[in-house]
Amino acid sequence: MNRALLNIDYTNDFVAAKGALTCGEPGQRIENRIVEITEAFIHAGDFVVFAIDLHQAADPFHPETKLFPPHNLEGTEGRKLFGKLHDTYERHRDVKNIYWMDKTRYSAFAGTDLDLQLRARNITELHLVGVCTDICVLHTAVDAYNKGFDIIVHEDAVASFDQEGHRWALRHFTGSLGAKVITKGDI
Ligand code: ZN
Repeated sequence: MNRALLNIDYTNDFVAAKGALTCGEPGQRIENRIVEITEAFIHAGDFVVFAIDLHQAADPFHPETKLFPPHNLEGTEGRKLFGKLHDTYERHRDVKNIYWMDKTRYSAFAGTDLDLQLRARNITELHLVGVCTDICVLHTAVDAYNKGFDIIVHEDAVASFDQEGHRWALRHFTGSLGAKVITKGDI
């Protein structure tokens, strides 16, 4: 069984205090844990994907334009990884098992070659970390479920600006997607 880590949208716009679409403190609180998990996967030689939102300013054809303020615009500070995760990525970006992947929709599978990259490596187990639990992490988990992957969500490394949505999504992962929701103590 091969496994991969999907690191979803942990960028300045989604996490920093002044981010364009920030989760705020709940997002900042998971910084150390997301770094710890990411380092562990990198050093174990597992496939580590950074699935990161990419938008163009005022894109008239993008469905999020009417839903959210501009965020994760190409080439901006807002689209860089937040805090220590940025340092981790910069230190390891040339490691061959790390894959930076632009995505333009909530799900990391939508319009990307993620499924092909995973199948090529015989990966069957996906570990999910990042933000937001009830938007991009959720939509990625739903697609992973439909494609037959085993799903593990790290509860102490996902967060949302919406605490009710966060809790609902955690229940949905286990109750409807058959995912394991784990924390550090479970590993
Ligand atoms: Zn977006």
